[in-house]
Amino acid sequence: MNKKILEDILREYKDVLLLTEDEISKILDAYDKQNEEIIDIVNKLYNSIDNENIWQEVNKYGRLKKLEKELKSGLLKFSKLDITMTTAILKKIANEAYARNVFVLEKNLFIKPTKNIKLPNKIINEILNYNVEGLNFSERIWFNNVKLQQNMVGTIRNGLQNGYSIDRMAKSIKDTMQISKNNAMRLIRTESAGVWYRGQKQVYKDHKIKKLVLIATLDSRTSNICRERDGKVYIAGEEPALPFHPNCRSTYAAYFENQQIKSRLDNQTKQKIKYTTYKEWIKQK
Ligand SMILES: [Zn+2]
Repeated sequence: MNKKILEDILREYKDVLLLTEDEISKILDAYDKQNEEIIDIVNKLYNSIDNENIWQEVNKYGRLKKLEKELKSGLLKFSKLDITMTTAILKKIANEAYARNVFVLEKNLFIKPTKNIKLPNKIINEILNYNVEGLNFSERIWFNNVKLQQNMVGTIRNGLQNGYSIDRMAKSIKDTMQISKNNAMRLIRTESAGVWYRGQKQVYKDHKIKKLVLIATLDSRTSNICRERDGKVYIAGEEPALPFHPNCRSTYAAYFENQQIKSRLDNQTKQKIKYTTYKEWIKQK
Protein backbone atom coordinates (compact mmCIF):
# COMPACT_ATOMS: atom_id res chain seq x y z
CA MET A 1 0.00 0.00 0.00
CA ASN A 2 1.42 3.32 -1.07
CA LYS A 3 1.01 5.92 1.67
CA LYS A 4 0.79 8.93 -0.58
CA ILE A 5 -2.89 8.54 -1.39
CA LEU A 6 -3.82 11.77 0.35
CA GLU A 7 -1.30 13.94 -1.46
CA ASP A 8 -2.08 12.23 -4.75
CA ILE A 9 -5.78 12.84 -4.51
CA LEU A 10 -5.42 16.48 -3.49
CA ARG A 11 -3.03 17.13 -6.34
CA GLU A 12 -5.43 15.58 -8.86
CA TYR A 13 -8.38 17.52 -7.45
CA LYS A 14 -6.55 20.85 -7.71
CA ASP A 15 -5.37 19.96 -11.18
CA VAL A 16 -8.88 19.18 -12.40
CA LEU A 17 -10.17 22.49 -11.08
CA LEU A 18 -7.31 24.29 -12.84
CA LEU A 19 -8.17 22.50 -16.08
CA THR A 20 -11.54 24.23 -16.18
CA GLU A 21 -10.32 27.78 -15.40
CA ASP A 22 -10.10 28.77 -19.06
CA GLU A 23 -13.63 27.65 -19.76
CA ILE A 24 -14.90 29.43 -16.67
CA SER A 25 -13.27 32.65 -17.82
CA LYS A 26 -15.08 32.20 -21.15
CA ILE A 27 -18.37 32.22 -19.25
CA LEU A 28 -17.30 35.42 -17.50
CA ASP A 29 -16.47 36.94 -20.88
CA ALA A 30 -19.94 35.98 -22.09
CA TYR A 31 -21.41 37.92 -19.15
CA ASP A 32 -19.33 40.96 -20.11
CA LYS A 33 -20.40 40.64 -23.73
CA GLN A 34 -24.03 40.42 -22.69
CA ASN A 35 -23.52 43.52 -20.57
CA GLU A 36 -22.20 45.40 -23.63
CA GLU A 37 -25.17 44.27 -25.69
CA ILE A 38 -27.61 45.61 -23.13
CA ILE A 39 -25.80 48.93 -22.98
CA ASP A 40 -25.92 49.08 -26.79
CA ILE A 41 -29.67 48.55 -26.79
CA VAL A 42 -30.17 51.33 -24.23
CA ASN A 43 -27.71 53.57 -26.04
CA LYS A 44 -29.70 53.26 -29.24
CA LEU A 45 -32.81 54.31 -27.36
CA TYR A 46 -31.05 57.33 -25.88
CA ASN A 47 -29.78 58.35 -29.30
CA SER A 48 -33.29 58.24 -30.68
CA ILE A 49 -34.59 60.65 -28.04
CA ASP A 50 -34.20 64.34 -28.48
CA ASN A 51 -36.06 65.52 -25.42
CA GLU A 52 -35.27 66.35 -21.79
CA ASN A 53 -38.04 64.15 -20.46
CA ILE A 54 -36.78 60.65 -21.25
CA TRP A 55 -39.50 58.82 -19.36
CA GLN A 56 -42.27 60.61 -21.22
CA GLU A 57 -40.58 59.89 -24.53
CA VAL A 58 -39.93 56.19 -23.99
CA ASN A 59 -43.56 55.65 -23.18
CA LYS A 60 -44.55 57.00 -26.58
CA TYR A 61 -44.98 54.65 -29.57
CA GLY A 62 -44.39 51.54 -27.39
CA ARG A 63 -40.64 52.22 -27.24
CA LEU A 64 -40.22 50.87 -23.71
CA LYS A 65 -42.10 47.68 -24.54
CA LYS A 66 -39.96 47.16 -27.61
CA LEU A 67 -36.79 47.68 -25.58
CA GLU A 68 -37.86 45.23 -22.90
CA LYS A 69 -38.75 42.65 -25.50
CA GLU A 70 -35.35 42.96 -27.10
CA LEU A 71 -33.68 42.75 -23.71
CA LYS A 72 -35.59 39.63 -22.72
CA SER A 73 -34.92 37.76 -25.93
CA GLY A 74 -31.20 38.58 -25.65
CA LEU A 75 -31.10 37.33 -22.08
CA LEU A 76 -33.00 34.19 -23.00
CA LYS A 77 -30.38 33.32 -25.61
CA PHE A 78 -27.67 34.15 -23.11
CA SER A 79 -29.20 31.85 -20.52
CA LYS A 80 -29.14 28.92 -22.94
CA LEU A 81 -25.50 29.63 -23.75
CA ASP A 82 -24.64 29.83 -20.05
CA ILE A 83 -26.24 26.42 -19.44
CA THR A 84 -24.49 24.86 -22.44
CA MET A 85 -21.08 26.15 -21.38
CA THR A 86 -21.53 25.13 -17.76
CA THR A 87 -22.74 21.66 -18.78
CA ALA A 88 -19.59 21.15 -20.85
CA ILE A 89 -17.38 22.10 -17.90
CA LEU A 90 -19.21 19.84 -15.46
CA LYS A 91 -19.10 16.91 -17.90
CA LYS A 92 -15.37 17.32 -18.17
CA ILE A 93 -15.05 17.38 -14.38
CA ALA A 94 -17.20 14.24 -14.02
CA ASN A 95 -14.99 12.33 -16.47
CA GLU A 96 -11.78 13.60 -14.93
CA ALA A 97 -13.00 12.91 -11.40
CA TYR A 98 -13.74 9.34 -12.29
CA ALA A 99 -10.56 8.66 -14.28
CA ARG A 100 -8.23 10.35 -11.80
CA ASN A 101 -9.74 8.73 -8.75
CA VAL A 102 -9.40 5.33 -10.39
CA PHE A 103 -5.81 6.20 -11.28
CA VAL A 104 -4.89 7.27 -7.73
CA LEU A 105 -6.54 4.24 -6.20
CA GLU A 106 -4.90 1.75 -8.54
CA LYS A 107 -1.53 3.41 -8.17
CA ASN A 108 -1.71 3.35 -4.37
CA LEU A 109 -2.99 -0.19 -4.22
CA PHE A 110 -0.44 -1.34 -6.80
CA ILE A 111 -3.17 -2.62 -9.08
CA LYS A 112 -2.39 -2.84 -12.77
CA PRO A 113 -3.80 0.39 -14.24
CA THR A 114 -7.03 0.18 -16.21
CA LYS A 115 -6.65 1.54 -19.74
CA ASN A 116 -9.10 4.00 -21.29
CA ILE A 117 -11.23 4.59 -18.26
CA LYS A 118 -14.57 5.90 -19.43
CA LEU A 119 -17.60 6.80 -17.42
CA PRO A 120 -20.90 5.67 -19.04
CA ASN A 121 -23.16 8.53 -20.18
CA LYS A 122 -25.95 7.36 -17.94
CA ILE A 123 -23.76 7.81 -14.86
CA ILE A 124 -22.40 11.14 -16.08
CA ASN A 125 -25.97 12.38 -16.34
CA GLU A 126 -26.77 11.15 -12.85
CA ILE A 127 -23.68 12.89 -11.48
CA LEU A 128 -24.51 16.13 -13.27
CA ASN A 129 -28.22 16.27 -12.69
CA TYR A 130 -28.13 15.47 -9.01
CA ASN A 131 -30.67 17.61 -7.14
CA VAL A 132 -29.71 19.74 -4.18
CA GLU A 133 -32.73 21.14 -2.35
CA GLY A 134 -34.96 20.12 -5.24
CA LEU A 135 -33.01 21.80 -8.07
CA ASN A 136 -30.30 20.60 -10.42
CA PHE A 137 -27.57 22.91 -11.75
CA SER A 138 -29.30 23.90 -14.99
CA GLU A 139 -32.45 24.85 -13.09
CA ARG A 140 -30.29 26.93 -10.77
CA ILE A 141 -28.68 28.75 -13.70
CA TRP A 142 -32.10 29.27 -15.19
CA PHE A 143 -33.40 30.65 -11.93
CA ASN A 144 -30.41 33.05 -11.66
CA ASN A 145 -31.05 34.26 -15.18
CA VAL A 146 -34.75 34.84 -14.60
CA LYS A 147 -33.73 36.99 -11.64
CA LEU A 148 -31.21 38.80 -13.81
CA GLN A 149 -33.88 39.52 -16.38
CA GLN A 150 -36.25 40.94 -13.76
CA ASN A 151 -33.52 43.00 -12.13
CA MET A 152 -32.29 44.34 -15.45
CA VAL A 153 -35.77 45.43 -16.52
CA GLY A 154 -36.15 47.11 -13.11
CA THR A 155 -32.74 48.81 -13.32
CA ILE A 156 -33.43 50.23 -16.77
CA ARG A 157 -36.94 51.39 -15.91
CA ASN A 158 -35.66 53.07 -12.79
CA GLY A 159 -32.90 54.83 -14.72
CA LEU A 160 -35.30 56.03 -17.38
CA GLN A 161 -37.83 57.23 -14.83
CA ASN A 162 -35.16 59.19 -13.00
CA GLY A 163 -33.70 60.63 -16.18
CA TYR A 164 -30.27 59.04 -15.80
CA SER A 165 -27.53 60.04 -18.21
CA ILE A 166 -26.31 57.21 -20.43
CA ASP A 167 -23.12 56.93 -18.37
CA ARG A 168 -24.99 56.59 -15.13
CA MET A 169 -27.34 54.09 -16.75
CA ALA A 170 -24.39 52.06 -18.04
CA LYS A 171 -22.99 51.96 -14.51
CA SER A 172 -26.31 50.70 -13.07
CA ILE A 173 -26.54 48.03 -15.77
CA LYS A 174 -23.00 46.89 -15.01
CA ASP A 175 -23.72 46.69 -11.27
CA THR A 176 -26.84 44.60 -11.88
CA MET A 177 -24.90 42.33 -14.20
CA GLN A 178 -22.08 41.94 -11.68
CA ILE A 179 -24.44 40.44 -9.08
CA SER A 180 -25.43 37.77 -11.59
CA LYS A 181 -21.85 37.20 -12.60
CA ASN A 182 -20.89 36.62 -8.97
CA ASN A 183 -23.79 34.21 -8.53
CA ALA A 184 -22.78 32.34 -11.67
CA MET A 185 -19.22 31.98 -10.37
CA ARG A 186 -20.32 30.72 -6.99
CA LEU A 187 -22.69 28.29 -8.67
CA ILE A 188 -20.11 26.82 -11.00
CA ARG A 189 -17.55 26.41 -8.23
CA THR A 190 -20.05 24.76 -5.92
CA GLU A 191 -21.32 22.47 -8.69
CA SER A 192 -17.76 21.57 -9.69
CA ALA A 193 -17.02 20.45 -6.14
CA GLY A 194 -20.25 18.42 -6.08
CA VAL A 195 -19.49 16.76 -9.42
CA TRP A 196 -15.95 15.90 -8.30
CA TYR A 197 -17.36 14.36 -5.11
CA ARG A 198 -19.99 12.29 -6.92
CA GLY A 199 -17.44 11.09 -9.48
CA GLN A 200 -15.25 10.05 -6.59
CA LYS A 201 -18.13 8.32 -4.86
CA GLN A 202 -18.76 6.25 -7.96
CA VAL A 203 -15.13 5.09 -7.99
CA TYR A 204 -15.24 4.15 -4.31
CA LYS A 205 -18.45 2.26 -4.92
CA ASP A 206 -17.07 0.42 -7.97
CA HIS A 207 -13.91 -0.53 -6.06
CA LYS A 208 -15.81 -1.50 -2.92
CA ILE A 209 -13.90 0.93 -0.72
CA LYS A 210 -15.15 0.62 2.84
CA LYS A 211 -13.92 3.78 4.52
CA LEU A 212 -13.19 7.36 3.57
CA VAL A 213 -11.21 10.09 5.26
CA LEU A 214 -12.01 13.77 4.91
CA ILE A 215 -9.20 16.07 3.82
CA ALA A 216 -9.57 19.80 4.28
CA THR A 217 -6.98 22.38 3.24
CA LEU A 218 -4.34 23.42 5.75
CA ASP A 219 -4.55 27.19 5.55
CA SER A 220 -6.39 30.03 7.26
CA ARG A 221 -9.25 30.23 4.71
CA THR A 222 -10.68 26.84 5.70
CA SER A 223 -14.23 27.00 7.11
CA ASN A 224 -15.11 25.91 10.65
CA ILE A 225 -17.06 22.88 9.47
CA CYS A 226 -14.13 21.66 7.36
CA ARG A 227 -11.63 22.30 10.18
CA GLU A 228 -13.89 20.28 12.43
CA ARG A 229 -14.28 17.35 10.03
CA ASP A 230 -10.69 17.19 8.77
CA GLY A 231 -9.20 13.73 9.36
CA LYS A 232 -12.55 12.16 10.27
CA VAL A 233 -13.08 8.66 8.96
CA TYR A 234 -16.49 7.68 7.59
CA ILE A 235 -18.03 4.43 6.45
CA ALA A 236 -18.36 4.77 2.67
CA GLY A 237 -21.92 5.69 1.78
CA GLU A 238 -22.51 7.29 5.18
CA GLU A 239 -20.17 10.25 4.70
CA PRO A 240 -21.68 13.73 4.52
CA ALA A 241 -21.99 14.90 0.90
CA LEU A 242 -19.54 17.50 -0.38
CA PRO A 243 -19.42 20.45 -0.78
CA PHE A 244 -20.28 21.41 2.79
CA HIS A 245 -20.68 25.07 1.83
CA PRO A 246 -20.02 27.39 -1.15
CA ASN A 247 -16.34 27.54 -2.17
CA CYS A 248 -15.61 24.37 -0.18
CA ARG A 249 -12.21 22.86 -1.05
CA SER A 250 -12.42 19.63 0.95
CA THR A 251 -12.35 16.19 -0.59
CA TYR A 252 -12.29 12.53 0.47
CA ALA A 253 -9.60 9.89 0.11
CA ALA A 254 -10.01 6.15 0.42
CA TYR A 255 -9.01 5.07 3.90
CA PHE A 256 -7.46 1.75 4.86
CA GLU A 257 -7.17 0.49 8.42
CA ASN A 258 -3.65 -0.84 7.90
CA GLN A 259 -2.51 2.33 6.25
CA GLN A 260 -0.77 5.07 8.10
CA ILE A 261 -1.00 8.39 6.38
CA LYS A 262 2.49 9.80 6.57
CA SER A 263 2.41 13.31 5.17
CA ARG A 264 0.27 16.07 3.79
CA LEU A 265 0.55 19.55 2.32
CA ASP A 266 0.69 22.67 4.44
CA ASN A 267 -1.03 25.08 2.09
CA GLN A 268 0.30 28.11 3.90
CA THR A 269 3.98 27.27 3.55
CA LYS A 270 3.42 24.94 0.56
CA GLN A 271 5.67 22.47 2.39
CA LYS A 272 5.10 18.79 2.86
CA ILE A 273 4.62 18.14 6.56
CA LYS A 274 4.14 15.13 8.80
CA TYR A 275 0.48 14.10 8.79
CA THR A 276 -1.63 15.94 11.33
CA THR A 277 -5.26 16.92 11.50
CA TYR A 278 -6.31 20.53 11.00
CA LYS A 279 -6.96 20.97 14.71
CA GLU A 280 -3.47 19.80 15.63
CA TRP A 281 -1.93 21.82 12.85
CA ILE A 282 -3.55 25.10 13.90
CA LYS A 283 -2.43 24.58 17.51
CA GLN A 284 1.18 24.57 16.34
CA LYS A 285 0.75 27.85 14.50
ZN1 LIG B 1 -15.11 23.40 3.08
